[in-house]
Amino acid sequence: MATKRDYYEVLGVEKNATADELKKAYRKLALKYHPDRNPGDKEAEEKFKEAAEAYDVLSNPDKRAKYDQFGHAMDQDMGGYGGGFGGMDLNDILRHVSSMFGADFGGGFSGGFGGFGGGQSQRRGDDIRIRVKLTLQEIAKGTHKEIKIPVMTPCSQCGGSGAKDSSAIKTCQHCGGTGRVVQRHGFMQMASTCPTCGGTGKMITEKCPHCYGQGVEKTEETVAFDIPAGVEEGMTLRLRGKGNAPQFGGVRGDLLVVITEVKDKELTRDGNNIIYHMMIDVPTAVLGGSVEVPTIDGHVRLTIEPGTQPGSILRMRGKGLPDPNYRSMRGDQLVQVMVYIPEKVTPEQRKTFESLRDQSNITASDSTKHDIFSRFKHIFE
Ligand SMILES: [Zn+2]
Ligand SMILES: [Zn+2]
Repeated sequence: MATKRDYYEVLGVEKNATADELKKAYRKLALKYHPDRNPGDKEAEEKFKEAAEAYDVLSNPDKRAKYDQFGHAMDQDMGGYGGGFGGMDLNDILRHVSSMFGADFGGGFSGGFGGFGGGQSQRRGDDIRIRVKLTLQEIAKGTHKEIKIPVMTPCSQCGGSGAKDSSAIKTCQHCGGTGRVVQRHGFMQMASTCPTCGGTGKMITEKCPHCYGQGVEKTEETVAFDIPAGVEEGMTLRLRGKGNAPQFGGVRGDLLVVITEVKDKELTRDGNNIIYHMMIDVPTAVLGGSVEVPTIDGHVRLTIEPGTQPGSILRMRGKGLPDPNYRSMRGDQLVQVMVYIPEKVTPEQRKTFESLRDQSNITASDSTKHDIFSRFKHIFE
């Protein structure tokens, strides 16, 4: 583990910094290292996360007191400061930053994210992850689903602007609507994002009362989609643009549909094959017969040859699941044979079994044993 920098040093504040000073310092760093302004820059991303973690600890009086006393020793010894940003993903931090400063700066700051660099990276809403439970039968044929999901959509009143009406959207005075300001450093000129409007070039003077200036509202949407045949537990389908809308306009995130298999009472999946444990009675095992077997296509009759051994595997070709890549190819159903030995017998049955004792073909000869064991070698290995 790399040594961590001192949190005060990270934020560039004094040990006795006030809450306000911390917030200001964090805002500055969050703006500077925001991923939208530094696309693909891993170092900036690390700095951004580092600042978020430092702020998370120092802005909380409890955590700050502990940090002042123990420093980073707490990280290892006591599991850190209660799950700060160290283990959080970037999206969580982004959301946090945007909600924190968005409210303070009348939407200007958070609205600015994504607006940097002339729209080279559009704001994107969060992905939504849902689980869909499928039976083996649904997996075998593929299925169509229609599911209601709670989702953030652009506000129905303001259309996503966050403003009460069009007259409440004013051109930013600071940058004259360009979203950028030019600063002079000696003889050098540097253009940077306007700190007042955050790069949007606009200021909202009166927030939309419906979404409180957020530009989004929580709604329910019904999404319809097809699940191809042969999918497996844990596979994820990505439905583009069906996730949450971002604040203040931009592209919607994706809806991730994670496949969960519902366990079947009788049939077990093994890749594209289906395993079924079948129990037959002694007469059927000895004399042969026909038994009804469940498959993913419904019940079918299966012929049992005379002299079927317990432990044998009967292969029902093409009764398994389709390959998701080659739908025409289906796996098999493997029927594992068990023979039920009656645990209690009637006096007549006892006589019957007694009469079978010591007959030469009832007991396996050495060569028959060898033959059968070698057939079931796979079971003992
Ligand atoms: Zn609104
Ligand atoms: Zn501006």
